[in-house]
Amino acid sequence: FQRLKAGLARSSSALSESITSVFTKRKLDAATLEEFEDVLIQADLGLATASAITQALAKGRYDKEIDDADVKAILAEEVTKVLAPVAIPLVIDSARKPHVILVVGVNGTGKTTTIGKLSAKLRAEGRSVMLAAGDTFRAAAVEQLKIWGERTGCTVVARAIGSDASGLAFDALRDAQAAGTDVLMIDTAGRLQNRTELMAELEKIIRVIKKQDPTAPHTVLLTLDATTGQNALQQVEIFGRTAGVTGLVMTKLDGTARGGILVAIAAKYRLPIHFIGVGEGMDDLEPFEAEDFARAIAG
Ligand code: GDP
Repeated sequence: FQRLKAGLARSSSALSESITSVFTKRKLDAATLEEFEDVLIQADLGLATASAITQALAKGRYDKEIDDADVKAILAEEVTKVLAPVAIPLVIDSARKPHVILVVGVNGTGKTTTIGKLSAKLRAEGRSVMLAAGDTFRAAAVEQLKIWGERTGCTVVARAIGSDASGLAFDALRDAQAAGTDVLMIDTAGRLQNRTELMAELEKIIRVIKKQDPTAPHTVLLTLDATTGQNALQQVEIFGRTAGVTGLVMTKLDGTARGGILVAIAAKYRLPIHFIGVGEGMDDLEPFEAEDFARAIAG
């Protein structure tokens, strides 16, 4: 928790300081409630959640003195209510050989890094892992994945730059099936400049995977960069529709003041949030815990 709190320091202190300044020596009335709601909106929690939390705070306390510590405790409690239903661990189906995880998201949101960190976790659990370098457009992405593979002891399947990603996914799945690999993680491209082409490519990858294993992909993870704030909402919309996203990873929660976006996304889409990224290192991927997160963000 302390580590998470340190990671979320900027989100946490921004919100915490604002709440303190709203409620120092003041009553809970229309004016303070409006300021409080604004603070929540500024913190990216979203209009609907900000309004619901403000109403919850007002209930039974109107016109009474309240101190900031109480407000923060109530905020943490209300945020926990929003987050608890989506704080769902990623479960690997051991009966699948392999359990196929497709990782999608806009370039730079942390797909490759998340795959690397997750592969370290899965390896530590004693699972065999294969990585497919499905972002066949960027040499750097392929190189990064190879470096992670070496670091965590995973086989990496890669092709020449510009190769067809679905062909690569097909071959990787065939290899993983033949080898009896536990988990196959497939990296993908994330060029939002050409959205139609990107979505067609993702659909094709999924089609081709299904030919080989009709139950796959078993998990479709979408990485979202917390520092992009409201843009993340739109990305859930776009990728959710095309790629059948089954769960989220919110990255870069260290060093941003926009951690609140996670709450807005949880309230709006109700997709499982499996992990949060709190740094660039191998151990900086944490299972998402609703109460810890809520307490860390409320300050
Ligand atoms: P991709 O283009 O989606 O594959 O994104 P990358 O995995 O290449 O990540 C883009 C950049 O973000 C890299 O410099 C990563 O080290 C960095 N990054 C990824 N996740 C995190 C995180 O949780 N925290 C921080 N601080 N940086 C991250």
